[in-house]
Amino acid sequence: MPPAAAATTAAPPATTTTTIPTIASPSDAATALAQVDTLLFDQDGVLWRGDEDVPGAARALQSLAASACPSSSSDANNDEKRRRLFFVTNNSTLSRRAYASKLTKRLGGLEVTPQQVVCSAWSAAEYLRSKGFGRGGERSGQKVLALGEAGLFDELTEAGIAYTRGPVLSVGEEEEGGKNGSSSPSSSSLRLSSLRCTSADIASFALDPSVGGVVIGWSAQQFTYAWVAYAAACLRELPLCDTFVVTNRDSADALPSGRLLPGTGAIAAAVEAAAGKAHVAVDAGKGGEWLLRGLLPRAIPDFDPSRAAMVGDRLDTDVAFAVEGGFRAAMLTLTGVAKRDEAEGAALAQRPTHILPSVADLTLDNGS
Ligand SMILES: [Mg+2]
Repeated sequence: MPPAAAATTAAPPATTTTTIPTIASPSDAATALAQVDTLLFDQDGVLWRGDEDVPGAARALQSLAASACPSSSSDANNDEKRRRLFFVTNNSTLSRRAYASKLTKRLGGLEVTPQQVVCSAWSAAEYLRSKGFGRGGERSGQKVLALGEAGLFDELTEAGIAYTRGPVLSVGEEEEGGKNGSSSPSSSSLRLSSLRCTSADIASFALDPSVGGVVIGWSAQQFTYAWVAYAAACLRELPLCDTFVVTNRDSADALPSGRLLPGTGAIAAAVEAAAGKAHVAVDAGKGGEWLLRGLLPRAIPDFDPSRAAMVGDRLDTDVAFAVEGGFRAAMLTLTGVAKRDEAEGAALAQRPTHILPSVADLTLDNGS
């Protein structure tokens, strides 16, 4: 046998031999979407960056929404079947309804309905419903301990899931109550008058025995050492408290300046470390099994991954989600977190099928 010859012809790593195709024209876009009838868009880093819209994003989405489904192109009535657009985000600060309204405002007249939005606050609420919490469920008499912002509380309320916020800072008379649907008796919370929290404070926490679960979303305002202590105590000590879900596991989000903001994954990691190894939160966002296998087939009627494309700016959530789900296309935009060289060097599980310098490059020329 010739081992020396074999050594000289060793195969290069499979992930780095080809360049990912770039979509840079309407005809490239049409080719890439030839078999695609359903498009899923991430938002932050794709359609906008903070308050700044990505130029051309609205026009691109309008052209896609107006385009005929490939499957209906031979039908006489192909005007009636258009490509479907959905918006899938790990951001838990807004509800589906609030996202639909924001998208409609920022996409230049394209009307987006709540049914087109799959946000992680809703995904977490639906996970809790699947475990019996909420209206009509076998655990409807139990509540969840919730950390988050308006979007999460609105989705819990919509699902009829009773919640408590645990220890919250009492910094103003309207800090709690009012607009978040927290008028229900379920919103009772411990009040803290300052960020200071002593071991005696923690020792004196009275846990609510009706708490059957913990749900964590992003909140810079509500997240405190006291909250971590309270959540960990619920998980460790309450016999009913066996359900633990996080809206997403993003470790950080990029600010326009480039600085990274600790994400929901960082908050969940703190609670998991405090609660101990037996308590690991289910990930309800992109990257987790629940959204992909449990929620998506219900959220998108007749969903067929082989005819779907995901457009996102992160390799570890958006692209990984599409690859894991067997989507026809996993498209990376370069207007957000991930860079081209990171995509080219990514493992197959996070390797995009296409690169879009911007979502604007997905504009179809429907007039031809
Ligand atoms: Mg993003």
